[in-house]
Formats: sequence, C-alpha cells, structure tokens
Amino acid sequence: MKVAPYYSIKPGTEVYHNSNKCTEGNNIEKENLRKGTGGHRLCSRCKELEN
Ligand SMILES: [Zn+2]
Repeated sequence: MKVAPYYSIKPGTEVYHNSNKCTEGNNIEKENLRKGTGGHRLCSRCKELEN
C-alpha cells in the first residue's frame, strides 16, 4: 500500500519511496531511513506498484 514518502540518507541515493511493498525501500537500513522525499525523484518500482 501507499505510505508517507521515505528515503535513505545513504550516499548515492537518488530516489524516494512511497510503497511498503518496494523491496528497495524495504532494504533501507533503519539508521539511514528518513521521512520525506529528500528532494529526490520517485523510485520507479514504487511508481509501478502504485499505478
Ligand atoms: Zn521504491
């Protein structure tokens, strides 16, 4: 399902996520997880999941 935007502060991160079914999003370590978009574009996998 769609959730509030979240992203990783890990260097090299270029996307944010908004699905709790995104494997990439679920792989973000807890200590790197932040709420919001971080100014990134939406993850393509999240985009497909929520279409
Ligand atoms: Zn995603």
